[in-house]
Amino acid sequence: MNYCIFCEISNHQQPADIVFEDEQMIVFKDIKPKAAVHFLIVPKKHIDSIEALKEEDKELVSQMIFLAKKMAQEQGVSQTGYKLLFNVLRGGGQLIDHIHLHLIGGEVRP
Ligand code: 5GP
Ligand code: ZN
Repeated sequence: MNYCIFCEISNHQQPADIVFEDEQMIVFKDIKPKAAVHFLIVPKKHIDSIEALKEEDKELVSQMIFLAKKMAQEQGVSQTGYKLLFNVLRGGGQLIDHIHLHLIGGEVRP
């Protein structure tokens, strides 16, 4: 596998503004936030993208979405609304090849 910055952040080998962590998941602030709240929900297991998901990853993806919902509640945007976004491969705007879910909330432009 090539060098992966999100694996490095998951292993605490690179710094990040971490807002949540458990055995399977890490959540940190996007380095270039597009709104007041812009978190990246990242499983510690390296999976390249949505396109690389296997049947066995079903539970992990479900966990990502529920964790995003919890983070939105904690950040006070669950009532006003937020965006959950998976970019998939280069044509879909994916630049980091480690699956991640964007949580974007607060003054999100349509
Ligand atoms: P993608 O375009 O792959 O869906 O999104 C990657 C996101 O990761 C971008 O919004 C980008 O700003 C963010 N990002 C890239 N490198 C780093 C980094 O080293 N640290 C953090 N916190 N965010 C990063
Ligand atoms: Zn990785």
